[in-house]
Amino acid sequence: METERKRGIEALTTGAMTDVWRWVRGKIPPGVEVFDAHAHIGADVDGRTVTAESMREQMEAAGVAKSIVFPLNDPNARDDYSGPNDVIWAAHEEYPGSFVPFFRLNPHLDYDREFDRCVERGFMGLKLHPVSQQFELDDPRAVRLFAKAAEADLPVLIHAGFAMQRIVEPLLPTIEAHPELRLILGHAGMVEILEAVRAFEDHPNVHFETSVVRAKDLYVLFSTLDPSRISYGSDIPYGDLPSTLHGTLAAAEAAGVPDEALPGILSENIRRWFS
Ligand SMILES: [Zn+2]
Repeated sequence: METERKRGIEALTTGAMTDVWRWVRGKIPPGVEVFDAHAHIGADVDGRTVTAESMREQMEAAGVAKSIVFPLNDPNARDDYSGPNDVIWAAHEEYPGSFVPFFRLNPHLDYDREFDRCVERGFMGLKLHPVSQQFELDDPRAVRLFAKAAEADLPVLIHAGFAMQRIVEPLLPTIEAHPELRLILGHAGMVEILEAVRAFEDHPNVHFETSVVRAKDLYVLFSTLDPSRISYGSDIPYGDLPSTLHGTLAAAEAAGVPDEALPGILSENIRRWFS
C-alpha cells in the first residue's frame, strides 16, 4: 500500500518532492479524508485541460478523498456556461462520491435559466470569477446572484486572489444582508487578507480557502483567523496536491496552529456543508 502510494506521488512530482511529501503524510492525522475545496475540470482559454480521469488519478496518488470541482475559464462557455457545467455533472456521475459539483456563471449574461437548471439537477454550489468574467462584486447583477444563492441555500466560491482589486468593501454589504449565505473565499482573499479577516471574522459562514496563496499570506491567515474558518484547496491545474498540501500544513505549523485543528482545515470545516 505504502509503495503504491509512493509510486503514485512520485509520478505526480517526478520524484522531486519525495521528502516534502513524506513530511506532509506525517502531518496529516490518521483517518482524515482530505477534502480539496477548490479544483477545476474542463478546458481554459489559456490552453490547459483537466479531465475527470486525470483529476481522480491525482487525488488517488495524493490520498485526497473528495474535491469541489467546477469549470475553468472555458472557451466553450457560450452565453450561459451550460456546456462546461455539463462536463462537471458528467464527471460527478462518472465518479460518484469523488466530486462535489459546482456550476459556473457569467453575471453579465442572462443567468436565471442556467442557475435554475443546475440547482434542479443537483449541483451543490456556484463558482464566480470576477476577473475572468470581468465584474465587480458589488455589480447589481452579481449582488442579485448572491441573493439567489442565499435563497437556494447554495454555497458560493468566489475567486478572491490574483488580479483582484476590491474584495472586502464590495462584498461586505452582501454578507451583512445574507448572513446565512455560505461563502468560500478562493485563495483566501489574499490581496487584502488582513482586511478580509477583520471584516469577516464575525461572519461564520465565510470560509477562507488556501490554494496558491503566497507563504507569507498563508502565515498571516493562520496567525490571525480561527482555524475552523480555514479550508484546504489546491486550485488544480494551477496548483498541485503535494505542494498545496505542503504549503497549507507548513504555514499552519509556522503559525502555531495546534495539530487538533488539522482535521478541520484538511476536511471537516467545509465537508460538513455537503453531508
Ligand atoms: Zn481556480
